[in-house]
Order: sequence, then structure tokens, then C-alpha cells
Amino acid sequence: MRAQYLQIKRRFPDTILLFRLGDFYETFEQDAEIASHVLDIVLTSRDLGKGVRVAMAGIPHRSSEVHIARLVAAGHKVAVCEQTGSAEKGRGLMDRDVARVVTPGTVTDPSMLDSSHNTYVVAVALDGARCGIAFADLSTGQFEATQFSSATASDARAAAARELLRLGAAEVVIPDSRGEDEADHVAWLPRDLTVSTIERWHWSAERAEALLRQHFAVESLDGFGLAQQRVAMQAAGALLSYLAETQRSRLAQLTSLRTYSLDGTMLLDAQARRNLELVETARGDKRHGLLSVLDETRTPMGARLLRRWLSQPLLDLAPIHERQDAVQYFVDDGISRSALRQHLSKVSDVERLANRAVIGSVTPRELGQLGRSLRAIGEIAQGVTEIPGLPSLSETTESCRRIQALLESALTYDPPATLNAVGTIRPGFSPDLDAHDRGVREAREWIAGLERHERDRTGIRSLKVGFNQVSGYFIEISTTALASAAREHAATSASGDVLPSDYAIRQSLANATRYVTTQLKEYEARLIGAQETLAQLEADLFRRVVAEVASHAGDLCTAAAAIAYLDVVSSLAEVAAAYAYVRPVVDDSHRIEIREGRHPTLERILPPGEFVANDALLDDDEHRITILTGPNMAGKSSWLRQVALIVLMAQIGSFVPAAAARIGIVDRIFTRIGAQDDISAGQSTFMVEMLETANILHHATSRSLVLLDEIGRGTSTWDGLAIARAVVEHIHNAPRLGCRTLFATHFHEMTAIAGVLPGVCCARMDVLEEGDRVVFLHRVAPGAADRSYGIHVAELAGAPKALTRRAREILQELEQGPAADVARGRRRSMGKPNPESLSMQLTLFAPPGPVLEAIRALDVESLSPLEALMKLYELRQLAKGDPSPGE
Ligand code: ADP
Repeated sequence: MRAQYLQIKRRFPDTILLFRLGDFYETFEQDAEIASHVLDIVLTSRDLGKGVRVAMAGIPHRSSEVHIARLVAAGHKVAVCEQTGSAEKGRGLMDRDVARVVTPGTVTDPSMLDSSHNTYVVAVALDGARCGIAFADLSTGQFEATQFSSATASDARAAAARELLRLGAAEVVIPDSRGEDEADHVAWLPRDLTVSTIERWHWSAERAEALLRQHFAVESLDGFGLAQQRVAMQAAGALLSYLAETQRSRLAQLTSLRTYSLDGTMLLDAQARRNLELVETARGDKRHGLLSVLDETRTPMGARLLRRWLSQPLLDLAPIHERQDAVQYFVDDGISRSALRQHLSKVSDVERLANRAVIGSVTPRELGQLGRSLRAIGEIAQGVTEIPGLPSLSETTESCRRIQALLESALTYDPPATLNAVGTIRPGFSPDLDAHDRGVREAREWIAGLERHERDRTGIRSLKVGFNQVSGYFIEISTTALASAAREHAATSASGDVLPSDYAIRQSLANATRYVTTQLKEYEARLIGAQETLAQLEADLFRRVVAEVASHAGDLCTAAAAIAYLDVVSSLAEVAAAYAYVRPVVDDSHRIEIREGRHPTLERILPPGEFVANDALLDDDEHRITILTGPNMAGKSSWLRQVALIVLMAQIGSFVPAAAARIGIVDRIFTRIGAQDDISAGQSTFMVEMLETANILHHATSRSLVLLDEIGRGTSTWDGLAIARAVVEHIHNAPRLGCRTLFATHFHEMTAIAGVLPGVCCARMDVLEEGDRVVFLHRVAPGAADRSYGIHVAELAGAPKALTRRAREILQELEQGPAADVARGRRRSMGKPNPESLSMQLTLFAPPGPVLEAIRALDVESLSPLEALMKLYELRQLAKGDPSPGE
């Protein structure tokens, strides 16, 4: 058995192998250690002889599903190895084989799935700078692929990582690392993602094409749009191979493959998703993510679609406007909105239910839910007519109606959770079934009436009719009752037995005797026979109903998609109406103009009336870059995020929290916010900050929106200030950039730059000073702040009074010290300024010197190349402080 185990384990090396031994699944060695840890079960060991012991831990077969679910939830892959067939002759060893592999990305069991999001397994094929991605959700049958090219191989990896994040992948499949450095092979993948590998030959284009053609039973893959997308095809083929390997059954729910394009959608990388708190806050709180603020959906399909929209804002105006129109429809018509949403509440997960019918794992109760959902969908279809962007419901109406009618006529009102219990098929659906049902009922009634009948016949009041598994039905009479009956009988009648003559003793117990009669056995046989046939018939009928549902699964899923759309737009309308959102004007200008904008989540968290609304203006002219200054805690980050969130909401088609808004399409939102320390990855805070900033400068376009919060905070004041200023200059001047940028800083020295660069303007967080007290107004006002109020923030935070008093003294000394007039930024650099950095600060902020003047005076267009070179030489001399160039 050990050899058998090792042989199977070799085939599934990176899984936890559950090895069936009688009523248990056993795990061994390392698997056992993991299992005992994750499942909190006892770790034992087993002696293999010759002094070898192996660790083992077992779980009962009956409760295996919960345990598998827990292992998978902890990110493990579980291979379930069953006993197949009978023992081999002579050796007594059972045949065993892996029946299925359950992985985080391939679970379909409803108890392991979260209905509010898709569970995707994603395959990534990288070919130099080209990348193919395919993903599938086995519970909904969604199967899609895409391909794109980037500038470099590392850009392609970054784009692939972004796509994995967008999809919220549960598991990624990549080729094995043969010939590559193992760590480098997976270094680009988002962390905490289950990684599975399959051998390289699965990724060849020929193999992929053959497999896909075979799966879809088509001659050519052109119909799927894969003709020009070889790398996408490789990913799709490899994914299919992987799924076939883990599922070990036909993947009938994957009925088609859709190719999609990432053009036309906003790019959001990991930082932006995290910083904007789209799904959850930095602390992992889902209730205060943007998603939960917008999510008033009523169906699981709607919840999943909203999540997809949110993770992929659009760039094209037409579909955005279409969604806006649909939201507008339901904002305007509150009555049909509430009617619709009432019906939606009755729709369960039609998409997943239809797919469970296809893979044959749907239960009677689930089919009952499907029937009720289809009734509600029918009512919805009647109610809605011209909703912009709504996928047509009318083509699927016929299918939905047929399946609804079938389910309503075939199933009982509340079908059981499993098919083993009777009561699935409704009386009247099958005459055959009804006849058997009658047979069963008659036999039962006869047996139920037997007790009274036999009591009358024998005169023994305590006579009982009982049943057990071993002897079936019997009549039981206690010894004392029998004795007293015998005495009575002897007294009253002369002859004959106490008990009727057809009573035969079945079993003698200590204080009772059990009897059967021929008639009782006859009825019992009739009952058991009819029950078996009944169960068989019910199962057959149920299977036929399931097959019929499966054959209409495509239409049901189309209807489900329409329902999801209605659910999402009406949910957005509900939120818009409840929280006074407005419809933004979305156009292809370079402007972002928000009047009285609010932070969608913060305004809900703060007590009513406390949130202060703020305007924002960005354009490609004087308001390209806004430098926002203000003390810590004044609301700078919140305002930055608020602007980005409003843009993002506008581009998914939602209304926005503002009095009015105009949003010129943004192709990408970049965020460099706060000190996200990445110490676990071995990088200093400052290094991370600079890496992220460099990434922004490399990839932003003139259409991007950039949020920079406290750039340069991770290093010394002077370095920080220098870098901060250089970043702003770069964004302002680099030919490809000039993008709309919000720059928050407590370096108020930064505002000087506004006087130099025409596209930079200043804003500050308003503060009210009342004597020693400072009140943050959370109001964005034009102009620059001149103090940082750090000590006030320390007070707010409850620092000891003695400490803040001493800080005030030091501040005063510093402000009056010799260097104070040179560099006001020094206030925060409590120590002695170092002369070198001071001189750097001086040049950076010195009034324009002779070099600058000379450059300004240049007429660049009229210079010949040689003259330009000469000028450059002169300028260098000038900069060195040598007044006599050329001599
Ligand atoms: P900063 O980035 O300037 O340090 P934050 O943006 O983190 O400040 O805001 C600090 C706190 O101020 C927030 O947690 C919030 O409670 C409050 N706040 C921010 N903006 C507003 C606003 N517009 N109205 C009311 N309170 C606000």
C-alpha cells in the first residue's frame, strides 16, 4: 500500500493527497503535518517496520467536504484518492485512483463558493513581450481569453499581474519552471495567489489548438476570434488541460470561449486598487470599500457584475453613456425601480444553478429555486422595456418560460435537499409514479392500521407494531401482557390458543416476544418493492428534468446576464437616489471639474452633516498640477482619493457624489499614497516610494490622473523636498506627460514652484486659528499654506502636555535661529542642518541666477548645432562661476 501511495503521490506532488482507507481519508508525512495544523486534527504516526515511522492524520469520510473546504480556503490543493474496484486477487490490495483535485480556483461546491464574486482560475502564457491570458469560472461556465503586447517582457509581466488583480484570481496556472530560476519564475506574480504549474508541452500552440477544437467539437477556432491570437490560444489550451487534469470529467459547462480586449478599459495597478480602497480598506475592512458603498444589488449575478464593472472602468464614451442612461431611467422612475428590485430579490443564482444542471450536480432544492427564479424573471421581463444597454430578454423568454413550466409541474413545492429523500416529483407529473406512490401509501396505511386491528383481535391493549432494520415489521407483545391475556383466556374460554393462529414467533426477547403474520410480510414486501421502484422512478424523472434544464442552460445564462445588468444599474440608481448623487458629464476633454464633491465612503462613515464637500478642477492648461498643502490630518489624502474615486465611478457609468461634475476620460489612475511599508519584501519605505514614483513617471500618459501624496517623506527633508520638486517638474515638462496631477504635501516650500511653472497651481486645506487652538475645516481653498501645525496634530493625538510645550520652545528657537530666514523648511528638521544639503536647498530655491537668465535669453530656434554646442560650453563655465567664458 505504501508503494501504491507513493506512486500516486508522485503524480500529484504539490497537492495534499487524501488517501482513502475504509471509512477514512488518511494523509501522510508532510501532508499530515499540514492537515493536522490547518484542520486541528490529531497527528499520529504509523510504524512501517524496519524502524521507519511516518506521520499520519486522518479525517472521516463522512465529514470530508468541510475539511476539504478548509484546506482549499487555506490555499492548498487537495487530491482526493478513492478506492476503485475490488481488492486485487491474492494480495488484498484495493485499486485506488485520484477521483478529483480540488483547488482554490476550481471549486464548484456551493458551500465553498462566495456568491458575491467569481472564482477564477487563470492561465498566463508569456512569450517575450507578448502575453496571453485565459480564465474560467467553473461555477458559471465563463471562459475567456485575451492577448496583448507590451514594450518589454517585464512590462508584459506587469500587465499580466494587473490582469490577475483585476480578475481577483483565486489561482494562477503557469508553465513549470524548467531551466529557469524558481524564484524568478514566480517573482512577478501577485502575492498570496495559489500558483499551479503544468508541464511546458501543454502550452504549445499546436497542442492548444487541437485540444480546444476537440473540446468545442469545431473544425476551426476562428469563430472564437482566436485566429490572430496565438498566445491567447496557448493560454486557453493550457487552462483546459489543467482543468481536465483536476476535474477528471468532461468540462461540459465550458460551452464557448469569448475573446476580450483590454483596450478600452482603464488600467489600475495593485497600488491604485489598494490605495483607492475599491473592495476593502487598507485594514481589510470590506464594509468601507467603494464596492460595498455602491452595492445595493439583490442577486448574486448582479453582485458579481458590479464587482467586475468596478474593477474595470471604461474608456469609451458610448458604453459609459449607455450605462448612465440606464441608471438615469431608474433614478427617474422610482416606482419601477422598487418594483424591479422586489422581483430581483426573488431571483437566486440562476447562472450557477444552470451550470450545476449542466455538470449534473444540481439538487432538487436548487432546481426548486431555479423554478421560482424563472417565475420572477418572467415578471421582470414583462415589466421592463426600453432600458439602454440591456441585453435582450425577449429571445430567452421562450426558454425561460418552458423551463419554468417544467419545473413547476415536475417538482414539489419545497423539494428536498438531496434526491435520496422522497418528495421531489410533484403528484400528477407522472401517472406511473403516482400509481407506485398510491401502492406505497396503501401498504403504509394498512400497516398503520394494523396495531389497532391486532389489539382488537387479541384483546391485548399494549400490543405494538414496530419496525427495525434487521427484522422489518413485527408485532410485539410483552411477556406480562401475554401472561395476563393467557389467564383471562383460561378463565373465559375453554379451548384454543391465546394468540391468533397466524401469529408466528419471530424473535424472543427478555421481556417480550415479536411475531409476524403472513399478511404483514406480504404488505411489507409490497411496501419495500414499491418504495424502491418509487425512488428509482423519481431519480429517473429528476434526471430527465435536469437534462432538459441543461439543454436550455445557454438561454438561462443569457437571461441571467440581463438580470445582472438590470440589478447593477438599478442598484446604482438606488444609491444615486438615496445619497443625492448626480449624473456626471463624461467627455473626451482633458478637464476634471467637480463641484461640491464628496468622498463616497468617508461621507457615510462620518456622522451625518460632518463631511465637508469640496470642489476640484484639473485641466490641460493652468490647472494641470495642483499642489495641495496643509497640516497632517487636515484632509489632504481624503481629497485626493475623492477626486480619483469620482472619476472612477463616472467611468463605470455610476452617478457621483457631487453637486455637479464633468469628467474628461482618464486612461489610468496612478497613486503614490502614504508610506505603504513593504519591509517584508526587503525594501525600505523610501525605496518603495521611489520605485512606485519611477513606475508612474514611466507609464503615465497625458490622459492619466496621478495622485502623489507626501512624495519624499521617506528621506531627509532636503532630499525629500528636492525629489518632490523634481518629480513635479518632470511631470510638468516631459513631452509625453503633463498629466492631471494632484500633489499633496506638508512641505509648504513646494508651493514656490507654482510661480515658475505655468501649469501648476496651489491649493491648501483651510485651518482656523483661534489663539493657540487650531481647527481643521477640511475645506480646500486656493493658495498655499504657510505652516504645518505639526505640534497641533501632536496635541490632537494626545501627546503629553510637557512634550508639546517643549516642542513649541524648540520651534521658536529654530524660527529665530540664523538659518531660519534661509530655509523655512528647517522647522521640521529638528537637528542641526547639514551644510551640504543646505547649499543644495539654496540653489534649488535661489532666485533665478545668471545661468538661468542666460538660458532664458537664448533663441534656441536660430542656433546652429555648432553654436548650440558653444553656448552649452559657455553656460557650463558660467555655472562653474567663471565669468570669462572662452578665455
Ligand atoms: P491628511 O492626508 O491631510 O493627513 P486625511 O485625508 O488622512 O488627512 O484626513 C484626516 C481625517 O480628517 C479623516 O480621517 C477624516 O475623518 C477627516 N476628514 C478628511 N476630509 C474631510 C472632509 N472633507 N470633511 C470632514 N472630515 C474630513
